[in-house]
Amino acid sequence: MPELPEVETIKLGLARLITGKTISKVRSNNPKSFPNTDVDVKRFLLGSKIRVVDRRGKALIIDLDSGYSLLIHLKMTGQLVYDDNHVHFGAGHPTDSLISKLPDKSTRVVIGFSDKSKLYFNDQRKFGWMRLHPSAAIGDLSFFKRLGPEPLSTDFSWQELRDRLSLRPRSPIKAVLLDQGIIAGIGNIYADESLWGAKIHPATPVSALKDSDYKRLHKSLLEILKLSLDQGGSTDRTYVDAEGKKGNYLQFARVFRRQGKPCPRCGRAIIKIRLAGRGTHLCPNCQKPKSTKPGGAYN
Ligand SMILES: [Zn+2]
Repeated sequence: MPELPEVETIKLGLARLITGKTISKVRSNNPKSFPNTDVDVKRFLLGSKIRVVDRRGKALIIDLDSGYSLLIHLKMTGQLVYDDNHVHFGAGHPTDSLISKLPDKSTRVVIGFSDKSKLYFNDQRKFGWMRLHPSAAIGDLSFFKRLGPEPLSTDFSWQELRDRLSLRPRSPIKAVLLDQGIIAGIGNIYADESLWGAKIHPATPVSALKDSDYKRLHKSLLEILKLSLDQGGSTDRTYVDAEGKKGNYLQFARVFRRQGKPCPRCGRAIIKIRLAGRGTHLCPNCQKPKSTKPGGAYN
């Protein structure tokens, strides 16, 4: 599933490529992928110009000068590919459709611009969607209302991380990191990698964390998100974006899907456990469980 750094990569790429363009054509072959009626499309999409490409959590918001926005959620297998015969930019779920000739059988929506360039929304499993919504009412959508703060925003401090996580004191830290209502956009890879970086066992209840743990976790989380963003997001297959740069985060992941391999810090074999319903990777030496001892001290 495309995670926050991948969606941010798409946002940055599309902002550069489609801002200011006028939409002249829209084709869709699946009402689930694009539920708006022809009337809405004619009135609010065709002829409108793209003002801003933005992101909130894992959703993209393409703001149009018609007073409407195109909201896009890639879900499990969504990807967006821009092509104008000179520049080819694609990101999202890593399949060959990112670099092959489009449309193909995974293509659900094609948006044509007045300069003949095109934006393809591909989605093999059809869980993703693209839909029009009045721009002024986006903040009222429950989908956005429920989202916690953005970890990549400049004012996201370790204190805010602590205060947000502390809303679920009894839950294991990994489960709380994955809760989109607590913090927006953290997925499985980034939860495992940031907990390893902060030397915190994923099953540690939030109430057992100290300020020093939150500081390390905050630092580690931001480092890992920015590192991945620099690489164009994570993927377990390589893909190529506009500059021919490959997204290869998993090649330098320290614990994620590295069970049995040595921990880069101490050499002990990484293990995989099941936690919060997800495969969870950790170093049993660097990330020791905190347990309550008689007398209340944590070891
Ligand atoms: Zn280790």
